[in-house]
Amino acid sequence: MGDKLLERLLELKKERNAVILAHNYQRPEVQDAGDYVGDSLGLSRTAAKTDAEVILFCGVHFMAETAAVLCPGKTVLMPDPNAGCPMANMVAVRELRALKQERPDAVVVTYVNTTAAIKAESDICCTSANAVKVVESIPAEKEIIFVPDKNLGRYAAEKSGRELILWPGYCPTHQRILVEDIREQKEQHRNAEVVVHPECTKDVIALADGVESTSGILRFCKESKATEFIIGTEMGLLHRLQKENPSKEFYPASRLADCPNMKLNTIEKMVWSLEDMIYKVEVPPDVAEGARAAIRRMLEL
Ligand code: SF4
Repeated sequence: MGDKLLERLLELKKERNAVILAHNYQRPEVQDAGDYVGDSLGLSRTAAKTDAEVILFCGVHFMAETAAVLCPGKTVLMPDPNAGCPMANMVAVRELRALKQERPDAVVVTYVNTTAAIKAESDICCTSANAVKVVESIPAEKEIIFVPDKNLGRYAAEKSGRELILWPGYCPTHQRILVEDIREQKEQHRNAEVVVHPECTKDVIALADGVESTSGILRFCKESKATEFIIGTEMGLLHRLQKENPSKEFYPASRLADCPNMKLNTIEKMVWSLEDMIYKVEVPPDVAEGARAAIRRMLEL
């Protein structure tokens, strides 16, 4: 049954001239079926360079939107339209406009984990890998509003020495990783290095040997001489870590760090999606243009 579905997926991929993008947090079998596996921005940039007409984006809604923004002219599909991101939904355009009105001179720095409409309201985007660099690039006399992740924002503020106006959003999945979890794992694996994502809380970050984006965690574990690692991010990344480093051991900081939205995508839904050409993700041209401008400013740094 599984093999038949995979065969059908390959057939449809050819018929539709499609490329499959899978985020690092997807189910293992979805990652294995992907043409590219990576972080949201990296995947969209890769997709823009391929000659595929259809992008099947296995991630969450804001990621498929980013692909639609960066790949105009291509059809972007999501296997499950309910795969949203609670953190991206913690900021609405109306609310951000109200804050911008209160602080008319502030520069709005927006994490890529936001809707296209929020990106379009922003001056510049950032990723978890370059948030510090983006913040540092803003003239010292300027106020900065950082949207929507308070944990990444606080981390960027500490590293850059800048004061940021933090939006009170957060990732519920990373929030589930607790200090006690890290301590317990360290107790059990005394030689392991701890690497966490900056979406984690301040207390968790304080116990880490490395604070990295998903791509950064992959690089950290590959380059480190250590052979055991405690990973403080969404559990899906462990599949790739183990696959790329078969002689090393990886332990999730918490088994509760399992994003239910990311896990909505399945092979069956991928097949249905390409079969029926559903669910299309489209961004209105004016919003796409604004979002593209904010992303471009980040890429120019
Ligand atoms: S892991 Fe967090 S940021 Fe990523 S999709 Fe899930 S809720 Fe959103």
